[in-house]
Amino acid sequence: MTNPQIRFIHSKAASSYQFEKDHPFHPIRYDLTISLLEHVGALSQTDILEPPKYDMEDLLLLGHQESYIEAIKLLSTTQPPVHLKENAELYGLQADDTPYFAGMHEAACSIVAGTVHAVEEVVQGRLQHAYHMAGGLHHALPNRAAGFCIYNDAVIAIRAAQRQHQIRVLYIDTDVHHGDGVQLAFYAEPSVCTYSIHETGKFLFPGTGYHYERGIEQGYGTSINVPLEPYTEDESWLNSFEYTLRKTIQHYKPDLIVSQHGCDAHAYDPLSHLHCSIGIYERIPQLIHELAHSYCNGKWVALGGGGYDLFRVVPRAWSYVWLEMADHAFLHQLLEAKQKRNLTPLPKGWLQQWSTVTTQQLPLYWQDEAGSIQAIPRREEITARNKHIAELSVQDM
Ligand SMILES: [Zn+2]
Ligand SMILES: [Zn+2]
Repeated sequence: MTNPQIRFIHSKAASSYQFEKDHPFHPIRYDLTISLLEHVGALSQTDILEPPKYDMEDLLLLGHQESYIEAIKLLSTTQPPVHLKENAELYGLQADDTPYFAGMHEAACSIVAGTVHAVEEVVQGRLQHAYHMAGGLHHALPNRAAGFCIYNDAVIAIRAAQRQHQIRVLYIDTDVHHGDGVQLAFYAEPSVCTYSIHETGKFLFPGTGYHYERGIEQGYGTSINVPLEPYTEDESWLNSFEYTLRKTIQHYKPDLIVSQHGCDAHAYDPLSHLHCSIGIYERIPQLIHELAHSYCNGKWVALGGGGYDLFRVVPRAWSYVWLEMADHAFLHQLLEAKQKRNLTPLPKGWLQQWSTVTTQQLPLYWQDEAGSIQAIPRREEITARNKHIAELSVQDM
């Protein structure tokens, strides 16, 4: 069993958060990741906490308008009223992107509950770190669903904690899409700093997250955005991240980190144009973990998010978050092997179990093999552009 102060928060109900069968946002990601961690002996049932039941009405109002919550509840029934079905678009529930489905209210509530529990346990000091893989639905807006997100669990959980504790929160979003819903919620709010590194909104949904979006009124300066060029590769991604995140945290000095670990910046991801390898997903939690101990007395909550190469990328990327958080011996083995330039094979049992479920060729190692991702010819130009943007995004710190 892992250190009792570190827990993996997960509810089986999160798997009912599923749009159509072939929709890219698929709950199989949770089973794939849990299974991979179990196969290397890094996760056992005693590590997993089921979130408790909450008064959801009260919580949802911290992030959403009452009329929106009512509409979601009705659209979540097996026979929604005709007038709502016809007007679902008004609530962002478009047919192909974020379609409504029976049971979506309960499924989305179970995700909110997991993030609320994770933040609460860490803020109260009962846990030091908590990982809620099903959380991180960062595009949901007060009155609209967007980008596969119905309720904004991070916004709700942070506000719920701030009702009882005067804490400064740094929200770190490494999903390839801008964390627009969380930024918007706290745009005028100095007690939450939102940091997002993503593919530039010039080419990717949701079209926001420019470096000059810095917050308003009392919250001016507590919104940080690092928009990267399409085809950005590992080194430039990581340099931009480390430079801007260290500046941000030195300047902001938070009491708690809430990080969102969407893993859709990988070159294999079908929904974006960044060109990174699994290497960034090994490094991201490592840096955040270090900063949580240096600045926040260890208080760190990690969430999942996007990630649409379900079999090849998500299970490895999300396993790295838990291995790092738990400081697991298996991670030390992985890193030692890497220093000797050796690849570490994925467990045979895991490969056997899941190769029957997909027609895709599963990766054989924890790392991406050399040559599996093509080098980008415009690397120099992209790197220079990213460096310039990274400097602009934190220029007054
Ligand atoms: Zn995303
Ligand atoms: Zn730690």
